[in-house]
Amino acid sequence: MRQILELQPNLHVLEVTQPEFTVRSVAVLGERHAVVWDTLTSAEDMAAFEPAIGTKPFHVVYSHADWDHIWGTNGFSRPPLNIIGHKACLRRFDQDVAKTLCDMQIAEAGKWDDIELIPPNLVFTSRMSLDLGDVSLDLHHLPGHSPDCIVGWIPQWSVLLGGDAIETPLPVVNDPGLLTDWLDSLETWANKGDIKRAISAHGSIKGRESLDSTVDYLRRLIAGDDIEFKSKLDDFYQRAHQKNLELARGGDQEDD
Ligand SMILES: [Zn+2]
Repeated sequence: MRQILELQPNLHVLEVTQPEFTVRSVAVLGERHAVVWDTLTSAEDMAAFEPAIGTKPFHVVYSHADWDHIWGTNGFSRPPLNIIGHKACLRRFDQDVAKTLCDMQIAEAGKWDDIELIPPNLVFTSRMSLDLGDVSLDLHHLPGHSPDCIVGWIPQWSVLLGGDAIETPLPVVNDPGLLTDWLDSLETWANKGDIKRAISAHGSIKGRESLDSTVDYLRRLIAGDDIEFKSKLDDFYQRAHQKNLELARGGDQEDD
């Protein structure tokens, strides 16, 4: 199932529901250029999003190289100006990206045959700013969920695009060694104070809930404190939470 929402003028999201989760792409429309933040799970996703993207030249930005964020890039009827990602995102195209596709093609025969893996052609290491005309999108490396994760900041609108660095009801930890830096970076963003809206790829887009909730969760996870949730976790998040707890307990992150 696909759904397009206009969050505010020139800011649209496409939500795609997969059997286990929903994932979200964001279109930021500037006066001169547009950005599509993540291309989701298939060419059909981006073909469906194209009317909301409009006719301006556009960049694609990958929040990170997990499959549900990068598989729709061949779905546009015109080529993007650039496909932008972190340097580590490009590296993953030579590491796990092709293997994930191969594994899923074996697991679900026929379903993923048309996927074309398209790596970034433009990469950065720490920060990069895209001038779209009347608005800009500032890309910041924020390793945590994965080493190649980035977030995007739109200062004119006070909007943060979080990818999988923020998520409700909880973020997915893969490497406990990144937990402390992940939390530190998110706390810096949370303390900026002027963030009006934080848009996660999965979960809440209500105000800045996904940012504040992720900070709280990671803080408790690292401290070994009890973590309570507003409502009962579904199977996917129950498993993710259990794995997070195991990783955090066995992790080697340093305490202050
Ligand atoms: Zn994801």
